[in-house]
Amino acid sequence: MRIGQGFDVHAFGEGDFITLGGVKIPYHRGLQAHSDGDVVLHALCDALLGAIAEGDIGLHFPDSDPQWNGADSRVFLQHAAAMVHEKGYGVANVDLTVVAQTPRIRPYVDDMRGHIARDLQIEESQVNVKATTTEGLGFSGRSEGIAAFAVVLLLRR
Ligand code: MG
Repeated sequence: MRIGQGFDVHAFGEGDFITLGGVKIPYHRGLQAHSDGDVVLHALCDALLGAIAEGDIGLHFPDSDPQWNGADSRVFLQHAAAMVHEKGYGVANVDLTVVAQTPRIRPYVDDMRGHIARDLQIEESQVNVKATTTEGLGFSGRSEGIAAFAVVLLLRR
């Protein structure tokens, strides 16, 4: 078996929605990023790539490459999943934590699990998404941005 962990942060900027776990969430700001700023999927991609010792998302989808401008991060996730499968592994489970003071994440968790399960070709019961605030402390607590943590376990198929 292999284990991987990932972490990502994006700052709020202009916009009227954010994308988390592939779900569009209405908000009075957006997330600043070269891609769609989906911190949840970015952390998850890094966990998957980490588990197979393939570097990180920046290596495979560099900011400097215009083809990733505004990119749907599910494309990154599908690519990372394909790499995991090519190496002979399957995903046993995924555990994700979203750190956000605002907006409220809970209502969108089941949709996120559905997208992630589909892209990883696993069951929703293998995907957990949790959300927490930081009780008003730090950049997240000041609603300056959103962070996400990911842990994945892979098993040889
Ligand atoms: Mg990112």
